[in-house]
Amino acid sequence: MYDLIVVGGGPAGYSAALYAVRFKMKTLVLTEDKGGVIKWTNLIENYPGGGFISGKELVEKMEEQAVKFGTEIKEEKVQGIEKDENSFKVISGKEEYFSKSLILATGVKKRKLNIPGEEDFQNKGVSFCALCDGVLFKDKEIAVVGGGDSAAKEAILLTKYAKKVYIIYRKNQIRPEPIRYERVMQKVKEGKIEIINNTNITEIKGDKFVEHIILDNEHKDSRKLEVQGVFVEIGGTPGNDLARGLGVELTEKGFIKIDELCRTNVSGVFAAGDVTSFPLKQAITAAAHGTVAAYSAHNYLSPEK
Ligand code: NDP
Repeated sequence: MYDLIVVGGGPAGYSAALYAVRFKMKTLVLTEDKGGVIKWTNLIENYPGGGFISGKELVEKMEEQAVKFGTEIKEEKVQGIEKDENSFKVISGKEEYFSKSLILATGVKKRKLNIPGEEDFQNKGVSFCALCDGVLFKDKEIAVVGGGDSAAKEAILLTKYAKKVYIIYRKNQIRPEPIRYERVMQKVKEGKIEIINNTNITEIKGDKFVEHIILDNEHKDSRKLEVQGVFVEIGGTPGNDLARGLGVELTEKGFIKIDELCRTNVSGVFAAGDVTSFPLKQAITAAAHGTVAAYSAHNYLSPEK
């Protein structure tokens, strides 16, 4: 029997595990996907003390530190969790594990456009990872869809390779953090990025590979835009299946409702990171909330007298 099972191996999960093992809790991290979405980020420059580091390197360091103090980590997808009076049965594809408390740090899954061509041209021009695939688009024209930090960040990265990057945004002004907005505008001045506002892509077309996209508004008198790549960066949807199964309360948008101590409405279940209702989705807030969740789990098992 574990004191704590953490589901999810991103910044929230590893930080929770690090603090839990230092509270002397027997802790297991179960993760389908080591690192979570942050491992696809090419450069993190706002994790205090982290300097300039890739998402992959940052999260690997977190993992190493949690393991050093005694965390067990297994790369297994959790398929279901059952709550007994005072314990949880966590069922993975391989085994069943038991714990006295639970931290859900299940993050987000990248959202898709769900338009014709997106599925068919995946890995044939459609990509969800600029860091992985950017280099394949040397001297090509490509579109990045979205108007948040991810779209801006990836568009800037892609200018390293592509001849031109279009940012296609559905509203009237992209809204990344100001420092990143300035960098995008600098690239616009240099002619490397062009922003097409108030526009959606309705279809991705081509023969073997992506050749053009169809827009719902005209751009330069045409709804057809020739690009050889489409990078989808439109945020994520919370990984809330396990929470739902346990009767954990969710927001309208499906994020896990937590209080200031990362407690959910289900006794013994805590949550941290991008999957929660906390609005700022950053590595630093995820790591901080992992710590808080571990503290709460520890107090739940050993209440202060
Ligand atoms: P966001 O949810 O912040 O932004 C998603 C963007 O995609 C929005 O512009 C949204 O439009 C648009 N969008 C959503 N659905 C669709 C759709 N179906 N069709 C077209 N456009 C769509 O996601 P991000 O991935 O950008 O960021 C997630 C979190 O991660 C944020 O909190 C962000 O700050 C953080 N982040 C931080 C980074 C860092 O280095 N600090 C780097 C990357 C992300 P609309 O504006 O209309 O809603």
